[in-house]
Amino acid sequence: MTAKSTKPAYTRPEMPSEPENELASVIASTRELLLWEKSLGAQGFPGPEPATPLPGSAGNSARSGAIQDCRARLQVLADEAAACARCELSKGRTQSVFARGTPDTDLVFVGEGPGYHEDQEGLPFVGRAGQLLDRMITAMGYPRDGVYICNVVKCRPPENRTPLPSEAEACAHFLVPQLELVEPKVIVALGRCAAENLQCVPPAGRWRGVWGEWRGVPVMPTYHPAFLLRSPQFKKPVWEDLQAVLGVLNRDVPKRDR
Ligand code: URA
Repeated sequence: MTAKSTKPAYTRPEMPSEPENELASVIASTRELLLWEKSLGAQGFPGPEPATPLPGSAGNSARSGAIQDCRARLQVLADEAAACARCELSKGRTQSVFARGTPDTDLVFVGEGPGYHEDQEGLPFVGRAGQLLDRMITAMGYPRDGVYICNVVKCRPPENRTPLPSEAEACAHFLVPQLELVEPKVIVALGRCAAENLQCVPPAGRWRGVWGEWRGVPVMPTYHPAFLLRSPQFKKPVWEDLQAVLGVLNRDVPKRDR
């Protein structure tokens, strides 16, 4: 599950760890997002379309029973994660951060690990990077909470550093059953850390945009939204990756209306 090197092969994009810095960053990020929206042209993610029903989400009692069971099992895992002390990250957490969204979905996003806001709120991707991820999700035609979102590690690494291989390995105790319970049709790995931990980084050459597989599930590794906030020129290739994901899911790419 985890890369075998002793050092992390990837350095997480620098992110503010203190709330005051974060406020300035949020303002800058929001401005940047608005400018980006304005200049979408051929570069950005289209605006949200009216939500289309998720494949297979029409309720029948067998399915809703299965989903209820899945939710219950995920809750058991989340409760275990909340009390987990398998690695040193547990010592610095405010709370563990298990997941957000719905397990009744065909699409899962896996990020790296909680940051300051996630640690405070107990939910993944609720900071600046999360706002951008929400735009990516709605641009794909999903409601914000129509997908399942989780991280390689469930506790915030100090100073938002990349999780160590040993930490990721300890937390695979949660990630593996979590993904197996949700049973997505596609996983999007957000950033190199997630791609590595889903064993989807080739030994050489490009990793972004190259389909991999995790236990039989297609994985699309793409850039992390925090990286995109700093390097917006890479939004276009990421949008191409997300369109490829929609293709595998047999979902139409929403039309841009502006
Ligand atoms: N970055 C991540 O990888 N995960 C989060 O939950 C937030 C930021």
